[in-house]
Amino acid sequence: MTNKYMYFIANWKMFGDLRTLNSLDSIIKFSNNNKKNKFKIVYCPPNTLIRPLSKRLKKTKLNVGAQNCHENENYGAFTGNVNARMLKNVGAKYIILGHSENRQSGETDKLINLKIKSAAKAGLKIIFCIGETLREKRNKKTNQVLARQIKNGLKSIKNKSKIIVAYEPVWSIGTGIIPKSNDLFKSVSFIKSRFGKKSPIILYGGSVNNNNISQLKDIDIIDGFLIGGASQNSKKFIDIIKKTFN
Ligand code: PGA
Repeated sequence: MTNKYMYFIANWKMFGDLRTLNSLDSIIKFSNNNKKNKFKIVYCPPNTLIRPLSKRLKKTKLNVGAQNCHENENYGAFTGNVNARMLKNVGAKYIILGHSENRQSGETDKLINLKIKSAAKAGLKIIFCIGETLREKRNKKTNQVLARQIKNGLKSIKNKSKIIVAYEPVWSIGTGIIPKSNDLFKSVSFIKSRFGKKSPIILYGGSVNNNNISQLKDIDIIDGFLIGGASQNSKKFIDIIKKTFN
């Protein structure tokens, strides 16, 4: 850990309804009782749950985030979309942008850049996802891809203090496969090197679970984790946090 806090970001993707929120009571209790370790927990549920969740987490140390937004900072005729300001208005403090599932369905670096700018303007903290595909990895293009995603995604953004980078190799998301520790260390170091002196908080994401966390936590330049599947189960999620500090 190079930062003051370890981050545990729960990416619920398209899962969860109002009843699912009850499962968070154990996390709230865990977080309230844990005075020793310094961590930040951010739940990113579907948009439908941002408001009820932010109400529920009001007197807790847990935070709420969104999973994506439209790039337009103002209202507009964009059926089915919401912008960053609207998400902030209902309680989001963070937002995941550039997730590979959205890149795969057509989001370009340029579009992600516009989204990041509008989210920053709305006052959201941004969890900016980058990562190479399996093919790019096999062709030894990882660094090239990461460099491009960082350069274009953060183009003309001077104040990067609100940006958290999540390194998520596409081939490790939802597959149960994590990178070799040595490769992961190299990729995170490379990401750091692209930012010069002021390195952002850098997270790892992709198949993080309560078994492989013991291996992942030893890579001490990682400041936390973006967790998909395992974050839907509170017990597993708590286990991941506990094991990180063991
Ligand atoms: P996973 O998802 O933990 O289920 O692999 C991570 C992510 O998509 O952010």
